[in-house]
Amino acid sequence: MSGAKAVREDRLWQRHADMAKLGGTPKGGVNRQALSPEDAAARNLLASWAKARGFSLFTDAIGNLFVRREGSDPAALPVMSGSHMDSQPTGGRFDGMYGVLAAFEALEALEDAGLATRRPLIAVAWTNEEGSRFQPGAMGSAVFAGRNKLDDMLMVKDWKGVVLKEALAETLAAAPAPMRDGTPGFALDGYVEVHIEQGPRLENERKTIGVVTGIQGSRRYIVETLGEEAHAGTTPRAARKDAYLAATRIASAMYDATTDADDTLRFTIGRVDVLPGSPNTVPGKATFTIDMRHPSDAVLEIHEARLRALVAEKAPPCAGRIERVTAVPPTVFDPQVVDLVRAKASTLGLTNMDMPSGAGHDAMHVARLCPTGMIFVPCERGISHNESENATPSDLAAGTRVLIEVLVALANR
Ligand SMILES: [Zn+2]
Repeated sequence: MSGAKAVREDRLWQRHADMAKLGGTPKGGVNRQALSPEDAAARNLLASWAKARGFSLFTDAIGNLFVRREGSDPAALPVMSGSHMDSQPTGGRFDGMYGVLAAFEALEALEDAGLATRRPLIAVAWTNEEGSRFQPGAMGSAVFAGRNKLDDMLMVKDWKGVVLKEALAETLAAAPAPMRDGTPGFALDGYVEVHIEQGPRLENERKTIGVVTGIQGSRRYIVETLGEEAHAGTTPRAARKDAYLAATRIASAMYDATTDADDTLRFTIGRVDVLPGSPNTVPGKATFTIDMRHPSDAVLEIHEARLRALVAEKAPPCAGRIERVTAVPPTVFDPQVVDLVRAKASTLGLTNMDMPSGAGHDAMHVARLCPTGMIFVPCERGISHNESENATPSDLAAGTRVLIEVLVALANR
């Protein structure tokens, strides 16, 4: 029997239902934030399934949880797959959890089929991907990849003032697993993450599998306009330096400048503040945020230059400035892994399309360590970070069949 044929759709679906009870909300979603009692319960459930199959289990100093199925060559570097089990406060049942359960189903299906691989296979549940309780998100994978320092992350506090180190200690006490000593991170031969798309493209194009080519880069900015506060009833238009009016001129021109023919560039103004914030005073200061994303850093660079020019051009008679706050470069996945995902999807007779990921994922950090790729499946109307998030059992199984074939190919190289 092939690995793909051994994937059991009913078991995979049931595992999602079992996990959804942990932090389950009345509206059918989950509230299972990082390092909460619900997170610990999910860890224990995964651990119980791992033990029942005879897989080994271990954790590391940031609480990433690993389930390992041995290969025939004990010296060979492992191939890993997984995602995260934490959720947004009003999250769905599939974001992250699907990637963990698909990886675990791959291990189980290989066990059922009696298929050995040369390399060990590891299913991973990364700590704190969502970043809703402790920032930054994708923390476990970032520490694993050496992108964030363990000691810095341990001192992060949630909004109640709880230090991450304490929450982690409580979680590991409630969900114990053998500790792998030392700084998190070890050598890998490859990493593949499956995830619901969290957008509508696959559903709109009636494709089952998204062959993820990379994760788009993102940049954030703050734009500030400075004018002059004045009386709203007495000041003639020509004498005003209205900071909000200048901000709207700039914003409007930016929306126009960031409209691209193939609708790839993402441009969002998500927050506007106007000061002094009085109904009868002409605003003296306005600030707004920009979140801009695109798979190509060169395109982001061109648009950043345009944004800067528009601030200079449209701000007068006010003063205007734009500051870049963050810049996360795009991730380009390994061409061999991307080709493998596409080829295996096609061999299995599954409709597929290449696409970049609009959202960030743990895979963007792991991609620094080893050849990495991702597999997307559709979610209903593209809705995610929402309790009504949904996906079909057959799509979830299809993504897992592609995953297992890719893992076997990588693990036998
Ligand atoms: Zn996720």
